[in-house]
Amino acid sequence: MERVDCVVAGAGVVGLAVARALAEAGREVIVLEKADAIGTGTSSRNSEVIHAGIYYPQGSLMARLCVEGRAKLYAYLEARGLPHRRCGKLIVATTEAEAATLGSIRARAAANGVPDLVPLSRVEVSALEPALDVVGALLSPSTGILDSHAYMAALQGDAEAAGAAFAFLSPLEGARVRDDGFELDVGGAEPMRLACRTLVNAAGLDAPALARRLAGLDPARVPQAWLAKGNYFTLTGRSPFSRLIYPVPVPGGLGTHLTLDLGGNARFGPDVEWVDHVDYRVDPARGAAFYAAIRRYWPGLPDDALAPGYSGIRPKIVPPGAPAQDFVIQGPADHGIPGLVNLFGIESPGLTSSLAIADLVAGLV
Ligand SMILES: Cc1cc2nc3c(=O)[nH]c(=O)nc-3n(C[C@H](O)[C@H](O)[C@H](O)COP(=O)(O)OP(=O)(O)OC[C@H]3O[C@@H](n4cnc5c(N)ncnc54)[C@H](O)[C@@H]3O)c2cc1C
Repeated sequence: MERVDCVVAGAGVVGLAVARALAEAGREVIVLEKADAIGTGTSSRNSEVIHAGIYYPQGSLMARLCVEGRAKLYAYLEARGLPHRRCGKLIVATTEAEAATLGSIRARAAANGVPDLVPLSRVEVSALEPALDVVGALLSPSTGILDSHAYMAALQGDAEAAGAAFAFLSPLEGARVRDDGFELDVGGAEPMRLACRTLVNAAGLDAPALARRLAGLDPARVPQAWLAKGNYFTLTGRSPFSRLIYPVPVPGGLGTHLTLDLGGNARFGPDVEWVDHVDYRVDPARGAAFYAAIRRYWPGLPDDALAPGYSGIRPKIVPPGAPAQDFVIQGPADHGIPGLVNLFGIESPGLTSSLAIADLVAGLV
């Protein structure tokens, strides 16, 4: 049986960042990916926003890794000349009651290490974004957008330059804990057995199912997977906005917000639709709810301006209605198995946090 030092299961943005960190630390790395290319899962079905780190509970992994990851990500994108833009975002209040919550959002952000939110009056908002009709806002200057594919390709390139190998169409189907590491069953056209010392489960939506197929890991350590689909509707025609526009958050989500791609095209969403299997088709009927929500801050949204866009699925580990769950990054101290890291519930801000998650994982193994 072939033996390697580290195996990373999953070549989404998190697996890629982990593979790069381990390879650059001098470890021998093989990345097993069930699809035929990098980043075909959640990593290519998101808003491509570099989040500041505003809303997460103080002291949570999301708060810490988002702030750390954002700094690392901007530095990386700048050093590599990769496409991104620090466009900023407005959190807009459409009623006096919502305006009264902006102070607590600003305080929470400051507690998370995001001290740069700027309160804006109605007049100041109009000067920045004339199409908005709101009573006030917070400007987050450190929020930005990136080309996530260019970023992932750069991570893959770094990992390969440091000696990592990628095996596509090679799902990790199961594994057994051994005294000196793990014995892996790799599927695909040429199924094989592989032994490794370190195993990182970065399988995204499939991470809980994969962990359950790891004989020797206590199943009580593995959360149940829940799928929360997020549908996007794109704006046909030119966007009048040059910043990202978010309403004041609503219970259970961020509200119907506007994000931009690097070409200036606008899309709204993602909404929240709990589903029981992966199906990325967008139901056009869901668009009706978008119009009403968007017109609360952009009354000039024309009729028939929205078209079904794309969707992504949040890898939830708590059921509908439960309080939001932090990232779960389980290392040897959690489950007692040397060399194993399981990554569960890596939803937003996982893209922003990816370099910080990778450094944390590399430290655990
Ligand atoms: C709607 C939506 C919007 C989002 N917006 C943002 C945003 O704007 N900013 C932000 O920071 N974050 C955002 N996120 C979060 C971010 O997209 C994710 O946190 C991140 O992409 C997760 O990456 P990953 O590598 O963990 O998972 P994935 O990208 O899903 O990668 C997992 C990989 O594992 C592979 N795999 C699965 N099972 C196996 C197996 N058994 N063997 C081998 N390979 C396997 C899959 O094929 C896949 O390639 C958003 C998420 C969603 C759903």
